[in-house]
Amino acid sequence: MPRPIHATIHPAAVRANLERARHAAPDARVWAVVKADAYGHGIERVFEAVRGADGIALLDLAEAQRVRALGWRGPILLLEGTFEPRDLELCSRLSLWHVVHCDAQIDWLSAHKTHVPHRVFLKMNSGMNRLGFTPERFRAAFARLSALPQVDEISLMTHFSDADGARGIAHQVAAFQAASQDLPGERSICNSAALLRHGLQAEVRLDWVRAGVALYGGAPDHPERTAQDWQLQPAMTLASRLIAVQHLNEGDTVGYGSRFTATAPMSIGVVACGYADGYPRHAPDGTPVLVDGVRTRVVGRVSMDMLTVDLSPVPSAGIGSEVTLWGRGPGGVLLPVDEVAQAAGTIGYELMCALAPRVPVSTDGD
Ligand SMILES: *Cc1c(COP(=O)(O)O)cnc(C)c1O
Repeated sequence: MPRPIHATIHPAAVRANLERARHAAPDARVWAVVKADAYGHGIERVFEAVRGADGIALLDLAEAQRVRALGWRGPILLLEGTFEPRDLELCSRLSLWHVVHCDAQIDWLSAHKTHVPHRVFLKMNSGMNRLGFTPERFRAAFARLSALPQVDEISLMTHFSDADGARGIAHQVAAFQAASQDLPGERSICNSAALLRHGLQAEVRLDWVRAGVALYGGAPDHPERTAQDWQLQPAMTLASRLIAVQHLNEGDTVGYGSRFTATAPMSIGVVACGYADGYPRHAPDGTPVLVDGVRTRVVGRVSMDMLTVDLSPVPSAGIGSEVTLWGRGPGGVLLPVDEVAQAAGTIGYELMCALAPRVPVSTDGD
């Protein structure tokens, strides 16, 4: 028998979450962001579910080729644009739209020989200080691009640093508007957090929203709001089974470093899942987990291939019992990836993306 760990992707959930994103930003066109192999879910596995999007956004050229190979004829946006001049050949050949965030990318475009002018998204650095032209330099970049025969349509975009948090987006929206208000072109500024929290405002959702984590059922602003609060459904389940049970006496310890000590007699389940499967090694005692659909907790340090759980709430559990690390458990019990991530000091995004290649994956339904 193969090792019992298994991930299941739920395309119907992705489809429903895409609809949810549309509702949150009515009349805006939606980019389905499928970078990082669809946040670990697999581009090919979610493709049918995101077909209803208006465009597909990603940043790896090989992933763009995979999307075209699946038969997608609609827009594809490279969120970081080109990484070197010859990437423009692929943009021409596959008709990829691309972000322009720096002068070097404009230089490359001006030297590019193409019969088909490119659609570009000019990126403003409105405060994130990662990619983009500052508001002061934005117009000059726009003017340079406008003068190029290689460029067809120019759209305008920016990205928020605090759409999920207390600082919010108002200062960046204001900076973006002030520096772009009389420029022509379509606009895109919202990620999942901005579109869920502010998408009902027309001046925020604008022409295109960029939905990433929400498509996969992650709450971008967990724990302030949960996936359930946003009516988002988990698109990935990571499940395994118990492969051993240990009965501890008071004072016995569990696993490497003896991190957990039993304060009374108790049973411990050993789960075939470890950090080499993508489960976070930093998960502390108390991190939630389901055994046979019953919520319990991780006890003891997560090791490479195994982790250990408290069986006190589920005394009937034994070897072969089903363990849900995140996602949908038996009987429809949910364990949001965001909760596991929060316990481990990270975000759901990271856990989804970190699903390890050795974990077998299948899709259900759809
Ligand atoms: C990843 C990404 C998004 C999507 O972000 P989510 O928080 O997952 O919705 C949007 N825009 C850009 C530029 C990105 O890189």
